[in-house]
Amino acid sequence: MERACAAAAPPAPEARMWRGKGRALLAFGLGVAFEALAWWLLRWRRRRLGTSSSPVREVLFFPSRVTCVEGLLAEEEAAAARRAPCACPLPHGESALSRLLARVLSARRSLDLCLFAFSSPQLRRAVVLLHRRGVRVRVVTDADYMALRGSQIGPLRMAGIQVRHDQETGYMHHKFAIIDKKMLITGSLNWTTQAIQNNRENLLIVEDRDCVNIFVAEFEKIWENYNPVNYIFFPQKEKQVLKKNKT
Ligand code: ZN
Repeated sequence: MERACAAAAPPAPEARMWRGKGRALLAFGLGVAFEALAWWLLRWRRRRLGTSSSPVREVLFFPSRVTCVEGLLAEEEAAAARRAPCACPLPHGESALSRLLARVLSARRSLDLCLFAFSSPQLRRAVVLLHRRGVRVRVVTDADYMALRGSQIGPLRMAGIQVRHDQETGYMHHKFAIIDKKMLITGSLNWTTQAIQNNRENLLIVEDRDCVNIFVAEFEKIWENYNPVNYIFFPQKEKQVLKKNKT
């Protein structure tokens, strides 16, 4: 009887205090665990996207060592193919081209290209791959150079990518790319096999908001200047002759 009474008695104040402390500790522990999980997930996602937590600042020099870049270019769906060792005779380490490709392929929303010459099949494949993934790709190029043999501008257009070109006497001589409006790739390098494999060239890759915004504004300006509605198909003199003949 005495025992039953003792069991039904309310917990001592000390026991209540310990229970309260236990709950607080549990809540604290859960909070810490949740935060750690969120941090780990964020890191995992960044690593998967090929981005790091600190802003990118990278310099690449060319000519690039000739390496196999098939693994980078393999379609995402063919992950197994990517893991399988490639049997081609080329070395499979890192190179300036593979680093450039990795940066380009990190685009998730947009890729704006302003390139004087574009004839690298590997870079064309990367750009088309992004387009297929749903990344908005826009290309600005030089009218004279895009018509040269080996230019990849035709295949880019065939793939459904928007391309605009100049109508000026001077060259559209820029060589820059903007990824997701937050990463800038700029330097002397034209995206040509000749430049990649033979020339001394440089590329600066930065995630610097102020710098990138200036290039974004310039790209938008050029993109609008080269809008096909502004194309002049006949020089002014010829237009006047055509008008005269009509009347
Ligand atoms: Zn290979």
